[in-house]
Amino acid sequence: MILQIDNVHLPEQGLVSIQVADGRIHGLGADLVCPPEAERWDGEGMVLVPGLVNGHTHAAMTLFRGFGDDMPLMEWLQTRIWPAEARLSEEDVYWGTRLACLEMIRSGTLCFTDMYWHFPGVARAVEESGMRALLGAVMIDVAGEEQARHCQRMTEEYFEQAQQFSSRIQFTLTPHAIYTVSRQSLQWVRDFAERHQLPIQIHLSETRHEVEQCLQQQGLPPALYLDQIGLLHERVILAHGVHLNDAELDRIALRGATLVTNPVSNMKLAVGGSFPYRRAAQRAIPMALGTDGAASNNSLDLFQEMKVMSLLQKHSEQDPTLLPAEEAWAIATGKRAPLLGQNAALAVGEAADFLLLRLDGVEVTPNHHLYSNLVYAATGYCVDTAVVAGRVLMRQRQIADAEEIVQQARLRAQQICQISS
Ligand SMILES: [Zn+2]
Repeated sequence: MILQIDNVHLPEQGLVSIQVADGRIHGLGADLVCPPEAERWDGEGMVLVPGLVNGHTHAAMTLFRGFGDDMPLMEWLQTRIWPAEARLSEEDVYWGTRLACLEMIRSGTLCFTDMYWHFPGVARAVEESGMRALLGAVMIDVAGEEQARHCQRMTEEYFEQAQQFSSRIQFTLTPHAIYTVSRQSLQWVRDFAERHQLPIQIHLSETRHEVEQCLQQQGLPPALYLDQIGLLHERVILAHGVHLNDAELDRIALRGATLVTNPVSNMKLAVGGSFPYRRAAQRAIPMALGTDGAASNNSLDLFQEMKVMSLLQKHSEQDPTLLPAEEAWAIATGKRAPLLGQNAALAVGEAADFLLLRLDGVEVTPNHHLYSNLVYAATGYCVDTAVVAGRVLMRQRQIADAEEIVQQARLRAQQICQISS
């Protein structure tokens, strides 16, 4: 099928038409000739932009949204999240992930990086949603060698299973963190990822306690410890990176790993300090933006996250010029992280992944500066249409199966959280 959308505003270029065929952008510009067999829409009043990229989340945790807020971290994990997670079935994770995908599409996210349990449920949900994702199964071996071997077996099995899904799903290795995964297991991750050329995602340097513990046990700060193992390179995604020192940032820059900042989750869990944006940008470290799970955010709307990211940097560095709107938008669309922003370019021959935004609403009037409006004023509600690989996932804010997804997720969340409370 060929789809042509006319009269859309492309930033820096003006009014254009976009033509989509075979999952790719087939034409982009003024005066495109529309083939007679094409489906044709009028996009008047809409702005054409790339999709947003959520660089770090735990999608199915939408089921725990608002379940135990305002609690100390360990008490929250021990009395709420971990007991509830222990009861999750693959089907629960499937519906929780469908709910997350629904929320992300409605707020303009077309690609995300996920770390969670029950990989087959997550992958099935992403496949059906039409989104793109980097997915992996959590590895934790605090219980010892038997747990480590189990995680390795599951990773091998899931890696095989991942081959049956479309290329929109990319399998990753997901050791949870340096304080929950042993050096031996991290070495196993390094070797398996090397053999199959897979990306790796890991939480790193989220709290001061993690840094102190690493210094005590390994004699090195977290990023240097990872590098000592050989787990710091251009296929590695580091979530958080709040408490990194200059030597660690130098090493991350040298190795080409990607940092993903999650400002709302960091503030909500009171991790202290803020992401070292200025020092990371000075070193041209690849950077992306994430929401973390909905249990610690509680939203997956990257429009909110962009605003908080920029404001937190300005506030903490006492510099209102830091992280301007255009840069926040570039980070949120994956343009500052090659590993995650593979579909950020709107150009002929590229994958047809894009959004149409309505910027004629009250909240974004007048439109003196597009990126200021997008970052400081808009919310995900401005997203009208979402397209991934040429497939229309949402038009006029309507998404197939939305009602069933909300109903199923609500029911399952109630059951799981009732049992646990
Ligand atoms: Zn996380």
